[in-house]
Amino acid sequence: MHQARLSHPVAPGIFAIPIPIPYPFRYVNVYLLLPPPLSTGGPVLVDCALDTPEARAALEGALREHGLGYGDLEALLLTHHHPDHYGLAGLIEQAGVSVYMLDIEEERGHIFWTQAEAMNQAGMAFFRRHGVTDEYLAGLEKELALTRSRVHPVRNPRTFPDGVVLEWAGTRLRVVWVPGHADGQAMFLREEDGVLLAGDQILEKISPNIGRWAYAYPNPLAHYLASLEKTRGLGARLALPGHYRPIADIPGRVAELRAHHQERLAFLEGLLSPEPQTAWQLSLALFPGELSLAQRRFAWAETLAHLEYLVEAGRAVPVELEGILHYRR
Ligand SMILES: [Zn+2]
Repeated sequence: MHQARLSHPVAPGIFAIPIPIPYPFRYVNVYLLLPPPLSTGGPVLVDCALDTPEARAALEGALREHGLGYGDLEALLLTHHHPDHYGLAGLIEQAGVSVYMLDIEEERGHIFWTQAEAMNQAGMAFFRRHGVTDEYLAGLEKELALTRSRVHPVRNPRTFPDGVVLEWAGTRLRVVWVPGHADGQAMFLREEDGVLLAGDQILEKISPNIGRWAYAYPNPLAHYLASLEKTRGLGARLALPGHYRPIADIPGRVAELRAHHQERLAFLEGLLSPEPQTAWQLSLALFPGELSLAQRRFAWAETLAHLEYLVEAGRAVPVELEGILHYRR
């Protein structure tokens, strides 16, 4: 019987492994880098999905297609700490694999998984401060507990700094720090042929979520727009993103994403009135309709990121009313 292959080549020495995830994206792309013949390096994995039986089957099956198990990997590189990219990392580490991430992501993202109680409390206080209703928060705690059950924190993360060249899998990868989607998101650029392992920095079909979270930098949208310029300036010829298909026209996609955010900023500015409104209220108007619990949370965080950008630009005014932040024209 012929079985569909679980990995497919996307660039010389690089295989994409689409792994099912229980999110609207449906799949996260994990990339397997195989060293060229006669090279001394070993295989390297970039990102891993969150832990579900389906994800494990897909990842382990794909590695088997190349005669590999977790223990054969030279390293696991993580683009950022979001659960769909990080979840299985602690498990793969237990097989004796070193797990690497940007130093900034260890300090600011990895801690989301290792300091769970403090992070949950800070998150809830932050949600309340921005007008998220108690009814919604009750569901959120359950959802967060489920996510945490699917994530294995890394015990001994190894780090690399921005700009360094990593010599893995018999190849050279330059680390490019692109804050915005996550404070410490890193991309990996193979300079010899312009292949860019792009994480969630640019995606083909949708705009990556730019959210303001309790533990994230203020004004993440300003960081993201600067990171988009940085991405365009690399002159890479093929982006291998965390979701959906590879992107050949990187400058074109960067321009679309920039325009998308300018449009959303203008639309949000139009929703502001002399009457103060919370980020939660504004998110219901900016993202109308039925959304899942998780989608609502992302909509809220994205609205808040845009509000902070408008405030910084002098296009919105924050007003505190009984301990809750509101925004007006
Ligand atoms: Zn992702």
